[in-house]
Amino acid sequence: MAQETVHYSHSEKDFILSPHSKKAPKRMASLMEMKEIFRSADAVCFDVDSTVIREEGIDELAKFCGVGDAVAEMTRRAMGGTVTFKAALTARLGLIRPSYEQVQKLISDNPPQLTPGIRELVSRLHQRGVQVFLVSGGFQSIVEHVALQLNIPTANVFANRLKFYFNGEYAGFDETQPTAESGGKGKVISHLKEQFHFKKVVMIGDGATDMEACPPGDCFIGFGGNVVRKQVKEKAKWYITHFDELLKELEER
Ligand SMILES: [Mg+2]
Repeated sequence: MAQETVHYSHSEKDFILSPHSKKAPKRMASLMEMKEIFRSADAVCFDVDSTVIREEGIDELAKFCGVGDAVAEMTRRAMGGTVTFKAALTARLGLIRPSYEQVQKLISDNPPQLTPGIRELVSRLHQRGVQVFLVSGGFQSIVEHVALQLNIPTANVFANRLKFYFNGEYAGFDETQPTAESGGKGKVISHLKEQFHFKKVVMIGDGATDMEACPPGDCFIGFGGNVVRKQVKEKAKWYITHFDELLKELEER
């Protein structure tokens, strides 16, 4: 392989390739390409916890049910380990065991807080005829409540479904949902592309599972407005901390 001369300018990030090189600086080019994909996307999928809303739904549910600390500890342990998403979800829900009534009461007494700027961004995307989806490892009833506030049809919500016995007691969750599996968000995007023939699908989220959904997603935008995940911030080619940055992209042309 031919060696390329690289001249460093003031900072190491700001590199300039030698004039003999045919390659453009990769990071710059791909960011521009991604912005173009975002501006011309058919569909935009948002993660929900710590992206569209400020908090993590399962942590709020755990706190509400009186097992907040124990579940937070389990989440911390699961994040550093090799536990599958489904196993981690099973364990945490097994501890919370939320009843139907508790979930309803959480939504009415302690509704999820929308992240600043999300309302305007979703509304602008809708005006442009872009389909907006919520793709979440959280729970359908909570995510549907969020969707309602953003005028997103419930058919555009992909999330996990809690199950209850007739008396309202916790009975597990629907393990057949793609969002119950590791890599589930990517599966949802593949399904959307197949069903609606979308050519360009954008995924926006704070977490590694969101980043891993691209591909099949065409462009990943990391979001650090509520919480910064180090790995995502380092790896994402496009990383934002406020939705205004995306609104601006849509208004520039
Ligand atoms: Mg998230």
